[in-house]
Amino acid sequence: MKKIAIIGGGASGLMVALTLKKELDGNVDVEIYERNNKIGRKILMSGNGKGNISNFFVSEKNYNNPTFVKPIIDNFKVDSLIKEFFSYGLSLVKDDSGRMYPQSDSSNSILDILRIQLDNYKVKINNDIYIDSFEFKDKFFWIDNKKYDYLVIAAGSIASNKEVKNKIQDSVEKLGHSFTKLYPSLSQILTNYDYIKSLSGVRVKALAKIAINGEIIKKEYGEVLFKDKALSGIVILNLSAALARKTQDMKINSAEVILDLLPNLSTQEVFDILLYNIKNNPWKTIDQLLLGQFNKMISLSILKDSGIIDFKKRVDSLSANDIKKIVDVIKNWEFRVSISKDLNNCQVICGGVDLKDVESPSLESKKVSNLYFCGEFLNIDGECGGFNLHFAFASGYNVASSIIKKINSDEK
Ligand SMILES: Cc1cc2nc3c(=O)[nH]c(=O)nc-3n(C[C@H](O)[C@H](O)[C@H](O)COP(=O)(O)OP(=O)(O)OC[C@H]3O[C@@H](n4cnc5c(N)ncnc54)[C@H](O)[C@@H]3O)c2cc1C
Repeated sequence: MKKIAIIGGGASGLMVALTLKKELDGNVDVEIYERNNKIGRKILMSGNGKGNISNFFVSEKNYNNPTFVKPIIDNFKVDSLIKEFFSYGLSLVKDDSGRMYPQSDSSNSILDILRIQLDNYKVKINNDIYIDSFEFKDKFFWIDNKKYDYLVIAAGSIASNKEVKNKIQDSVEKLGHSFTKLYPSLSQILTNYDYIKSLSGVRVKALAKIAINGEIIKKEYGEVLFKDKALSGIVILNLSAALARKTQDMKINSAEVILDLLPNLSTQEVFDILLYNIKNNPWKTIDQLLLGQFNKMISLSILKDSGIIDFKKRVDSLSANDIKKIVDVIKNWEFRVSISKDLNNCQVICGGVDLKDVESPSLESKKVSNLYFCGEFLNIDGECGGFNLHFAFASGYNVASSIIKKINSDEK
């Protein structure tokens, strides 16, 4: 009987184990090593506890390395994931942006369903065991004097883990694999904007852009959430990913986020709307001018950034130039932001095992036969919205399929 060890009991590792057992059942011995006392910690954290497991619109374009990812996703598209989980007894639903969640709206359901399957197939799960090294000798893998035919590294990333480096990396490097540099991705973006504290907790819909030295590198429409010292929300997380990639090899410490608060209207149209409001309500005070468009705290910040000093004056005291300045802030609200290097305070990490050392879609090492990598341990990261968990499951499925093929062909 072939023995398979999986280091990591997260989304990718669990998918490897289940796919192997579903296909080969009693003909393989599958053992998971998990350093936490429970499996699937990050599945539980996903979607703010609701379990954002995939995205209905997933494609290779949602990842940093589309060419490598394409065949992996092609073998495990969103309908494969939906069917797989439905066969376990879990129904998934999607929201307006295609984000897939369990019907229960709780990530616990995903993990419960996976645990029940793992128990049924008698997958051995060794909790509370941190594997800091393994050996490859005589064509076998050795973990604590136990011998395995296949080894799958599904150890994820150090995002949100409070550690500097996963020790298992040393054993992987010893076997000739390289690792690319690690950068935080999908994180809030820090800003020292003057009025950020007063905006904390406020949400606004905007076309958000990120620019380095005046050059816009990504833009996306959606909800921006203001925090005490940072901008957050899904669009901002996605901008942070673009920023991380762009600044990897550049010595840049700051950039700008620019918000267009009324992207469907031209500058002239916004100007005309304000003028119409002023003409109809000349007695309004300046701090009342924008209240029909924006939250009160946002309105005040816009006015302050426009250089208006006395908010208690009548709106008909505003000059055409004052109105132009207000419109300019509404259409191009600038936030100077700093580039975070904090690897623990983000949802995913850019970087991991260098893809040049790994076959796609089998995810077998090009250096060592029967050694596989999956999930975030690889240098693959996706956008916010279910794409990272989708890749974890898809890559786990591909690893298992490749091992199954090998085992089946050995037996012939
Ligand atoms: C706060 C947060 C929110 C997120 N929200 C979403 C979301 O909504 N949608 C989405 O798609 N993605 C989300 N992600 C990202 C997603 O969770 C990960 O990309 C995904 O879990 C990666 O799966 P994985 O199997 O590669 O790694 P992981 O899920 O991290 O699993 C790796 C496992 O290996 C274990 N391990 C690591 N090293 C060792 C070792 N040496 N020995 C033993 N065990 C080890 C770890 O404890 C862990 O359980 C979120 C991440 C975070 C941190």
